[in-house]
Amino acid sequence: MTSSSVTGLWKKLSGKFSKPSQYTSNTVAIIPRDEHCVSRKNISDAAIKVIRRLNEEGYDAFLVGGGVRDLLLGGQPKDFDIATNATPEQVRGVFRNSRIIGRRFRIVHVRFGNEIIEVTTFRGGHDAPSTSAQRNKHSARTESGMLTRDNVYGSVNEDAARRDLSINALYYSSRDFCVYDYVGGMRDLEQKLIRIIGDPETRYREDPVRMLRVVRFAAKLNFDIEKHTEEPLKRLAPLLTDISAARMFDEVIKLLMSGQGIQTYALLQRYGLFSPLFPATQKMLNQHEPATEAIIQQGLINTDARIAEGKPVTPAFIYAVLLWPVVKKVYKEILDSGVPEIPALHQAAERVLHKQQQTVAIPKRFSLPMRDIWELQSRLTRRTGKRAEQLLEHRYFRAGFDFLLLREQAGEVEAGLGQWWLAFQEAHADTRGAMLTQVPAGEKPRAPRRRRSPRKPR
Ligand code: ATP
Ligand code: MG
Repeated sequence: MTSSSVTGLWKKLSGKFSKPSQYTSNTVAIIPRDEHCVSRKNISDAAIKVIRRLNEEGYDAFLVGGGVRDLLLGGQPKDFDIATNATPEQVRGVFRNSRIIGRRFRIVHVRFGNEIIEVTTFRGGHDAPSTSAQRNKHSARTESGMLTRDNVYGSVNEDAARRDLSINALYYSSRDFCVYDYVGGMRDLEQKLIRIIGDPETRYREDPVRMLRVVRFAAKLNFDIEKHTEEPLKRLAPLLTDISAARMFDEVIKLLMSGQGIQTYALLQRYGLFSPLFPATQKMLNQHEPATEAIIQQGLINTDARIAEGKPVTPAFIYAVLLWPVVKKVYKEILDSGVPEIPALHQAAERVLHKQQQTVAIPKRFSLPMRDIWELQSRLTRRTGKRAEQLLEHRYFRAGFDFLLLREQAGEVEAGLGQWWLAFQEAHADTRGAMLTQVPAGEKPRAPRRRRSPRKPR
C-alpha cells in the first residue's frame, strides 16, 4: 500500500471509529479486518502457526512490530515477531523446536525449517511500584537509567507502552483479524511520523539504541521525526558509548546496509550519533578532511545502489570504507617513523581495528577481509608482470578492485586505474603482456635485492 492509501485507510477509519485524541494505557483503537490491509496471505505460514498453537493452548498471541508496520505500508516484512502473554518457559513448553535466548531481554526462537519466529512475552513497566520481589529480580538499571535487564512481564497494553516507536506497536490478532492500536501508531503511520512512546529522554536513557532506531526508521520509511522525539537526540547521543560493542555491530549493519545508507548517515551526522560509533573517523571528519567525507559518501551511494540491484553486500566492505581514512593516516605516521611499507600497513590496520573494536566489535570473518581489501590497495597500484596476474587470483581481488573503483570515484587515485584493471581482467593473455609494458615506470618493481655473499666456511 502506498502512503496515500494509508491516509485513505485512516480516513475510512475515522469516519467509523472514535479515534482517541489522547492515548492512555487503557485506550485502544480496534480496527476490524475489512478496515485495514493486513492480510493473512502476506504473513508467513510459520508465524500464523505459532499464533494458532499459542491460542489453542489458551494464550493470547499477536503479530506485532515490523511485520504489522510493513504490511500496513504495503511492504513485505523481512521477519515476523509475535507477542504473547505466555512466559518464555510456557512458550518453550508449547514448541519442541524452540529455545530461549538472551539475558537482558529473554525471548524464544521457534524454528520452522529455515524460518525463525521470534516470540516475546508482553513486557510490563519497570516504574510501577514493585508489588512482588519477582519484579526486582527481573529488572535492573544502571545509574544513567539504562535497563540492563528487561524481563518484567505485563499485559498487552503495558507491552505496547514498552515498545520503541508508535508505528512499531501495532498488534494484529489472527483470532479476530483486528489491528489493536494502544499508542496512536495508526495516526503516526498516516502522518508519516516517527514518534517514541512515552517520555523521550527516559526511553533513550533506558536503551540508547532506540536513538539509532529512530533515525533508521526515519530514513528507511522517509518519515519525519516528531519534535519531542527529536529534541534529546543530540544531547543524549554520547550515551551510545555505554552499549556493548557486540550489540553495536548488529545495529550498524542495520543502519548502513538496508538500502538507505546515505540518508541514514546524514541523520546520524545531524544528531551526533555517528561519533560514538566511529570516533576515530569522526575526528578526521572534524578536521574537515574532504577526502574522508567523499569516500564515505561514495561508499554508501555504491552500497545502496548494489542493494537496489539485488547484488550482495558485505559488512567488510562498508567497514573498510568507514575506517580507510584513519588507516591511511596511521599508515603514514608509521611510515614516517621509518617502518617499511608492508609492515607499516599491517601495523596501521592492526592499530585501527583494535581501537575500533572498543565501540563496534567487528567479528574476525569481516576484519580479515578488511585487512586484505586495504592491503590490496597498495598492490593494485603496482602493476608489474607476474604480480599483476597473481593478484587476479587473490581471494578478495573483487572486493579490493571494487574498493579501488570507489577511491577513484572519490578522487583519491588517478583516474583510469580502475578501468585498466577492468580491461586487464577481461584481456587475453597476449594483450595482458602488452598492457603491462605500458605501465608507468614508477610502478615498476624496485631493483632486486643484492644477494648476500655466501658465508665463509669457518
Ligand atoms: P525490522 O525487523 O524491519 O528491522 P522491527 O520493527 O521488526 O523492524 P525488530 O528489531 O525486529 O524491529 O524488533 C521488533 C519489535 O520489537 C519492534 O517493532 C519494536 O516494537 C520492539 N523493539 C525492538 N527494539 C526495541 C527497543 N530497543 N526498545 C523497545 N522496543 C523495541
Ligand atoms: Mg522485525
